[in-house]
Amino acid sequence: MSLSDDQLERYARQIVLKEIGGEGQKRLLRARVVIVGAGGIGSPAIQYLAAAGVGQLTIIDDDKVSLSNLQRQTLFGTAEVGEPKVGLAAKKVEALNPDVLVQAVDERINALNAQRLIAGAQVVLDGSDNFETRLTVADHALAATVPLVSASVAQFEGQLALFRGWETDKPCYRCLVGSDPDRPEASCSDQGVLGAVAGILGSLAAMEAIRAITGFGEDTAGKLLLIDARSLRLRTVKLTKDPGCPACKV
Ligand SMILES: [Zn+2]
Repeated sequence: MSLSDDQLERYARQIVLKEIGGEGQKRLLRARVVIVGAGGIGSPAIQYLAAAGVGQLTIIDDDKVSLSNLQRQTLFGTAEVGEPKVGLAAKKVEALNPDVLVQAVDERINALNAQRLIAGAQVVLDGSDNFETRLTVADHALAATVPLVSASVAQFEGQLALFRGWETDKPCYRCLVGSDPDRPEASCSDQGVLGAVAGILGSLAAMEAIRAITGFGEDTAGKLLLIDARSLRLRTVKLTKDPGCPACKV
């Protein structure tokens, strides 16, 4: 595979980065990223991954655009209220970058379809809005040994982590959150969220997916980034593998 003149120009600003270069760009073009949720986190994540030239994006969401989404879901406009999100997201990606092949999956990811949707991906990016979906995505990414980028937001706060729980010294998502399906769930609709904070986490999630594909910089698996916009505070804490975790114990 060699890069065309148009590709050399389109991706010039990241090819010039020595940690990415032409080889990293080819890796991006060959990669498939599965994005769960085309919402407040998914919107910027989809845009940055498409712009960066990730060759295949599988976008999974069964929701339609509502007026209250537009405060943070930057892929969509007022005229699109009522339309399915994944179809719109696919159109925006195609308009942005013809190098990207989009698979628009207008379904909710669940135990029946997750294995098929995740198989063969280089990264799964979870920006979904509920705990049940997060556990399903995490379990299937772990089983398929696909790195999981998990991003979440609530009110003025956000969390980001990359998981490769099949490795002996790296935690999985359940090491962080436990496995209680009755865990109290905080959704945007009852807690609220500042759109710009969702945008930050979506951009960070895209960055971590690009890191997982190209290997730039340091390995971040096993770290959790916490952001509090109220105090403009970012901190990173180390996550350890839970020796009693039923999901990833070896
Ligand atoms: Zn675990």
